[in-house]
Amino acid sequence: MWAAPGRVNLIGEYTDFNEGFVMPLALPHTTVAAVARRADGVLRLHSADVPGGVVQLDDTAALAPGAGGGWAAYPAGVVWALRAAGHEVGGADVHLTSTVPTGAGLSSSAALEVVVALALNDLYELGLTAPELARVAQHAENGFVGVPCGIMDQTASACAVEGHALHLDCRDLTVRQVPFAPAAEGLTLLVVDTRVSHALGDGAYAERRAGCEAAARALGVSHLRDLAYEELPGALAALTDETQRRYVRHVVGDDRRVGRIAALLDAGDVRGIGPLLTEGHASLRDDLRVSCPELDLVVEASLAAGALGARMTGGGFGGSAIVLVAEREADALAESVADAFASAGFGAPRVFPAVPSQGARRLR
Ligand code: ADP
Ligand code: MG
Repeated sequence: MWAAPGRVNLIGEYTDFNEGFVMPLALPHTTVAAVARRADGVLRLHSADVPGGVVQLDDTAALAPGAGGGWAAYPAGVVWALRAAGHEVGGADVHLTSTVPTGAGLSSSAALEVVVALALNDLYELGLTAPELARVAQHAENGFVGVPCGIMDQTASACAVEGHALHLDCRDLTVRQVPFAPAAEGLTLLVVDTRVSHALGDGAYAERRAGCEAAARALGVSHLRDLAYEELPGALAALTDETQRRYVRHVVGDDRRVGRIAALLDAGDVRGIGPLLTEGHASLRDDLRVSCPELDLVVEASLAAGALGARMTGGGFGGSAIVLVAEREADALAESVADAFASAGFGAPRVFPAVPSQGARRLR
């Protein structure tokens, strides 16, 4: 049995494809897989979390993208990606169950891919490292499932260390563990899942990405990561497109916030990161324009209830927000946010603490 967690991103949004920086942490919520080798090349997949029985794929060697397959495409894609990387992986029986909320921006898909990759790595004695397994999992999602995600989610699920956030350089993929233990300071990081997902998300992501790439071309850099914060005023003056100007301001600003939050956490100042989280939200709301009324209300109601900082996390247009608050005020804050949602006519949000947890591991 193996387990791999979901994740939440502390800071660094829409920076990954700009080859910048992100800082996710693993959640206590995990996807657990019981896996056994099969000698006959057959892949049998079952999830306790989806209706329907076993999905059987008769020959792992014949797996090819585009065959459809719903949820089973994620684990099957991992087998395909391992084989595509030259690893001799045969059949397996895979049974799954998860406590990671799906579709809430907490990366249940990465948890699913990583737990299967780790189990097959052990059972077939492949000897791959955690960052290598993350890349296999990303390849499965990009190449087999068909979702053009970055490397953050899989890296967080595979490489996170309890009591830490993970500083990831999306250019060279180097990872650094940054101590992050809010409970030791009497604080808690809450996740507020708005339970909404607005349809404009997909097109908006592609549009932001294209806008950032166009701005990088206009500024003569390979990626927006290459702009130092000190160069921002000059870059903004040079751009003629007002939308690109907003995107550049967000990306360069968020890259800087990742660095500043890492420095504060290295110095043990967890409280100090609050204002930077809130600043990050304003940037996503006003410059990148990927927030929504529910996410803005979480932030507004949380700050009114005494939060040290709050921001939307993930791609936006719904999904989850994070809130840094004193532990003794957390219950009252959750109630205030729920009241604000009720008054606005929104459905009840789901609130839980994001305790920085361990990445993928073998259970027994
Ligand atoms: P997120 O990763 O933010 O939760 P995604 O849309 O990327 O959302 O991935 C969710 C999909 O992953 C589900 O629709 C399902 O196909 C698959 N999935 C995640 N967890 C499980 C699980 N425990 N069992 C079966 N499928 C799962
Ligand atoms: Mg996902």
